[in-house]
Amino acid sequence: MDCNPRSLLCILPLLLSCAVPVISVIYPPNEVNLLDSKASQGELGWISYPSHGWEEISGVDEHYTPIRTFQVCNVMEYSQNNWLRTNWIPRQSAQKIYVELKFTLRDCNSIPLVLGTCKETFNLLYLETDDDQGSRFQEHQFSKIDTIAADESFTQTDLGDRILKLNTEVREVGHMTKKGFYLAFQDVGACVALVSVRVYFKKCPYTVRNLASFPDTVPMDSQSLVEVKGSCVNHSKEEEPPRMYCSTEGEWLVPIGKCLCNPGYEERSSTCQMCRAGFYKSTLGNAECSKCPPHSFSHHEGSLHCGCEKNYFRAEGDPASMACTRPPSAPRNVISSINETSVILEWSWPEDAGGRRDVTFTVLCKRCRSSNGGSQRCEPCRSNVRFLPRATGLHNTTVTVGDLLAHTNYTFEIEAQNGVSSLAPKMRQYAAVTITTNQAAPSPVTVIRKEKTSRNSVSLSWQEPERPNGIILDYEIKYYEKEEQETSYTILRARGCNVTLSGLKPNTAYLLQIRARTAAGYGATSPSFQFETSPDSAFSISSESSQVVLIAISSAVAIILLTVLLYVLIGRFCCHSKSKHPDEKRLHFGNGHLRLPGIRTYVDPHTYEDPSQAVHEFAKELDASCIAIDKVVGAGEFGEVCSGRLKLPSKKEICVAIKTLKGGYTDKQRRDFLAEASIMGQFDHPNIIRLEGVVTRSKPVMIVTEYMENGSLDSFLRKHDAQFTGIQLVGMLRGIASGMKYLSDMGYVHRDLAARNILVNSNLVCKVSDFGLSRVLEDDPEAAYTTRGGKIPIRWTAPEAIAYRKFTSASDAWSYGIVLWEVMSYGERPYWEMSNQDVIKAVDEGYRLPPPMDCPATLYQLMLDCWQKERNNRPKFEQIVSILDKLIRNPGSLKITANTTSRPANLLLDRSSSEVPSMGTMGDWMDGMRTLPCKEAFSGVSYSSCDTLAKTSTEDLKKVGVSIVGPQKKIVSSLKALDSHTKNGPVPV
Ligand code: AMP
Repeated sequence: MDCNPRSLLCILPLLLSCAVPVISVIYPPNEVNLLDSKASQGELGWISYPSHGWEEISGVDEHYTPIRTFQVCNVMEYSQNNWLRTNWIPRQSAQKIYVELKFTLRDCNSIPLVLGTCKETFNLLYLETDDDQGSRFQEHQFSKIDTIAADESFTQTDLGDRILKLNTEVREVGHMTKKGFYLAFQDVGACVALVSVRVYFKKCPYTVRNLASFPDTVPMDSQSLVEVKGSCVNHSKEEEPPRMYCSTEGEWLVPIGKCLCNPGYEERSSTCQMCRAGFYKSTLGNAECSKCPPHSFSHHEGSLHCGCEKNYFRAEGDPASMACTRPPSAPRNVISSINETSVILEWSWPEDAGGRRDVTFTVLCKRCRSSNGGSQRCEPCRSNVRFLPRATGLHNTTVTVGDLLAHTNYTFEIEAQNGVSSLAPKMRQYAAVTITTNQAAPSPVTVIRKEKTSRNSVSLSWQEPERPNGIILDYEIKYYEKEEQETSYTILRARGCNVTLSGLKPNTAYLLQIRARTAAGYGATSPSFQFETSPDSAFSISSESSQVVLIAISSAVAIILLTVLLYVLIGRFCCHSKSKHPDEKRLHFGNGHLRLPGIRTYVDPHTYEDPSQAVHEFAKELDASCIAIDKVVGAGEFGEVCSGRLKLPSKKEICVAIKTLKGGYTDKQRRDFLAEASIMGQFDHPNIIRLEGVVTRSKPVMIVTEYMENGSLDSFLRKHDAQFTGIQLVGMLRGIASGMKYLSDMGYVHRDLAARNILVNSNLVCKVSDFGLSRVLEDDPEAAYTTRGGKIPIRWTAPEAIAYRKFTSASDAWSYGIVLWEVMSYGERPYWEMSNQDVIKAVDEGYRLPPPMDCPATLYQLMLDCWQKERNNRPKFEQIVSILDKLIRNPGSLKITANTTSRPANLLLDRSSSEVPSMGTMGDWMDGMRTLPCKEAFSGVSYSSCDTLAKTSTEDLKKVGVSIVGPQKKIVSSLKALDSHTKNGPVPV
């Protein structure tokens, strides 16, 4: 058919039969065509009724694609009813179908003379059937879908021309139930060209989301969504079941859940692909494959891990992302410091830690001996060698090895290890150091057995110390009556491990201690061992005298009973108000002092079988949480001394000193440490350091005392040289004497009274401290061994205590005299730099310290009284307190200094005592005091009389070459003393 757009029938804006490229139309992926008239190149074969109605013609569409179209244009005639029916269209799975029509429609105005007959719409209808009905066609079977009108029939051009416009209309039809359907187009008198008819339904197309694939899904025609389960793509695993919803519009909605790529695979374009060589992925997940870490490789695709290069390893817990590592190199620069039978080993970190941070050190101990052939034979050390903190798994580069044998060669192999050392035994390296231990004293005897006991004797045996540290030359056995508390004792020596002690009192408790001796000296003493001798045997009495004895015993019992009765009665009357301390009823005659019932008595904590019981009897247990430590203020024998605060519930916070017991202590050290608290806890006096309590139930073990702001007296005085008035000094001395009076009343002998053991608080109150038993002397740096083996602070100790350990309150009075001298000389060292031996000799010969510079005569006299050789002539502390009280009441008396006036006569020292030699010349004094260098110096100058000497000033001393301040002061004071005694007669200095 020819087409002239201007003609009535030419209603298509088409270029007919033009050869142009074909552009295939792409439909949206969620639309499935059931019919597409454009797709058909040949006749469509639709039924047209009546036959002069709709007409099928060929043409091209807007893209110049050849198409088949239908048109009708019977606009001039009335009552048009032209039907065009499609072929049967199978429904497939569609429930709702869409009909897309493309058509052109001429407006009736553009056609002349058609008024009344021309229409501008046509009808769209459909018929559902289960099968193809062929050419059978009945109008009434069809249902109307819609009346279709053109949106725009024409477009007006600038020239006033009207151009036909292609309309597109889409209609939905649902809910389809039969297998297929027909569409029909009813024309009632329009001029219409049906350019294309497309029938389609919508689906949700196959898709992959979150590594799960979802199949093609046809939606429901209702409003509800279709839930679709996805399946994981190859090489992936469900993390959470994947699901999605298909909407009626063929759109996927709300993806839920997901799949993850297996180890060795990574996600690439919605699939899981193998890791490439050199990469790995060890876990399930959508992470990318990682590059192999240092010192590892993967040669194959899809690797889960990377293997380690040669000599590199991966420890069990190492993550796959960690580099492969190797054992560390050996530690470097090993240094050993030997102390007797222990050694401190220190080393530097290995140069190469193997790439790891978990380096620890292990120390292997070997004992090495040279065999006869000269070669070394090593064997592992005994199991009782101690490593501090331990031998293996050390994080620091030091260890202390103790309990080694004396004079023995040891080799220590120090190995650095890390997490892969056990995987490469051949690569392990260590540094070795060989040492030889020194001489050491034997360890204490710990096991003592009683073999046989009788009335007057006992046989004992013991085991050799665990660590003799050499050949044991002999054992020292010291024993004493328990009651006498070591005031007198006996010492025996035995070569073997047994001894029989004879000459003992029957039915008496004794305490005994043993210590072993080697070439290195004495070892520590054993703990006290108690034994009792047997009672007097009643059966040894002869039969003849038995009757007499019986009467005597009966009478004695009766008398004892009567006495006890009387004692109890008197006690009830007189003493019921006194303290109930268990020891109060005992009479004590120790240390030369008679103490009466009613005065509280010191109880030796070592007499308790269980020393911890003593601590808890005398000291309050504190909760560590009540104590706050502030800083370290000093060092004690057992650990640091700190200052801090104690806050007890419902009490005010107070400042305290805290003595700690350092870790690694032995049972004995703990006992000895706490013994001080057991002793201190028994005292309650303003001039005795007060115990606040102890911490024994948690670590560290602590002793908490009142805090003394000015620390120890000796250093305090040295710091404040010549800054106090006489009265202030006497006040301090009075406090010390008062504390000592209290101690001696309690029956406690201090044994180590010295300015260093006096503490001073912020009010200048002095308090006696440093309590303990034997340990007081063990820990005092001033204490030296005497020829009898004891350790004694020679310069402060009375001659009888040095000579035969006779420690009493009278020996404490001697020490008090020395403290007096220390105080008055502002912390000068007694006897200066003289050796201990020279001090003992000088004192024994009657020489005494001279008065310190500007020392009041009364005080110097008091010193001399305290230094009486005969201990009973020394003043009691009570008398000392009263003398000092008098001085305080009469401060004028302090003005008379020792070097300018005669000695007062009212004190107890017998200065004409024949034991005290006189000293006539300065040379004698200097000889006596062993100030030989000074004597020589003085021999170079002429001194004609003691008068001139007394006037010797420090300036004069400088002239003769004595330039150091200390000695000048001492010499000047010595000279003054000498001057004073020559004026006043033969006074020993
Ligand atoms: P000690 O173990 O008693 O010899 O104490 C060692 C040092 O700690 C002393 O010399 C003092 O300097 C200091 N110290 C001990 N106890 C106290 C205290 N109660 N108050 C202040 N400082 C103390």
